[in-house]
Amino acid sequence: MTEPPAFPEPRADLTGLEGYHSAQVTVPVRLNTNESPYPPPDAFVAALADAVRAAPFHRYPDRGASELRAATARFHGQSPERVFCANGSNEVLQTLLLAYGGPGRRAALFRPTYLLHDHIARITGTEVVAGERRADFTLDLDEVRSVLTATNPHITFLCTPNNPTGVVEAREVVEAVIDAAPGLVIIDEAYGEFAPWSALELVSDDRPVVVVRTFSKVWSLAGLRLGCCIAPPRVVADLEKVALPYHLSALTQAAGRLALDFADEMRVRVDAIVRERERVHTALAGTDGVTVWPSGANFLLFRTERDAKQVWQGLVDGGVLVRDASSWPGLAGCLRVTIGTPEENDAFLVALKEVLAA
Ligand code: PMP
Repeated sequence: MTEPPAFPEPRADLTGLEGYHSAQVTVPVRLNTNESPYPPPDAFVAALADAVRAAPFHRYPDRGASELRAATARFHGQSPERVFCANGSNEVLQTLLLAYGGPGRRAALFRPTYLLHDHIARITGTEVVAGERRADFTLDLDEVRSVLTATNPHITFLCTPNNPTGVVEAREVVEAVIDAAPGLVIIDEAYGEFAPWSALELVSDDRPVVVVRTFSKVWSLAGLRLGCCIAPPRVVADLEKVALPYHLSALTQAAGRLALDFADEMRVRVDAIVRERERVHTALAGTDGVTVWPSGANFLLFRTERDAKQVWQGLVDGGVLVRDASSWPGLAGCLRVTIGTPEENDAFLVALKEVLAA
């Protein structure tokens, strides 16, 4: 008997890389992954069911996703040539990295920020160069300029509102980063609709700036997997070179297009979540031993004087799942709670009080 062939090793630069996962625990109140607590409207589901019945599923989908792109462009007041869609904004980010990152290239980011920027850069073979944010988690322009000058990155990531801190950067700060960045600036606005301003207005055909959006949060469609970016047409053309043919299914394209018909309902949900965010913020800020940061998103970052892992476990025991952010760079002791329905938020506040009193 000959020896079976040895399995090949994966790429050497993937050694030590861990997947990005939030603990999946079965509890009544799940406030750990920044989803919408509300499902999409029944009328949307009915329209999607009609579209499914009429769809020619034996054929490949429209490769250019032209109707979805046109509808997305209309919604954002942009031209369709500036729109690229993919299966979730993570896939949009991955496509950007495939086109503009890769071996011998660098991506800059400022911690603490969305862990997937780092992760997606690494899985595409892109070197990550990281700067630090200030203690209040805002960007420090001196630090940004010094990192950009020292490393000359091909890509600079911004995230506003920033996950997991909730911080919304001021427009002047974003403009200053764009002025200082040598390559492509990717502004991740996964939580853009919760915030008071958007960098969408900074996208122009002659500036290497891309704004990334998702249907996972305000559109209540995390399960669908759809995201997009608004970018100069030449960037969109580069993304189309590296995207797999037919990567966006006919079902996804139809669902995204139909979702945009329910923008009024989306805004009602966003308003309700923002009101609840402020209520929970006030409650946390008034709780002894709790520090909470202001947020322009659908979550709040907070810290207690107790061990974060014990607080996390205590909340799980009380039926509430939040995100333990305490092992993330710059976030010792921190937890992140997604804003849910008023009842879910009350359950969280009650459970937290009990944990802190124990
Ligand atoms: N960007 C940020 C900042 C996020 O928080 C998330 C979701 N956690 C994403 C992108 C990815 O979302 P999706 O792939 O569901 O669009």
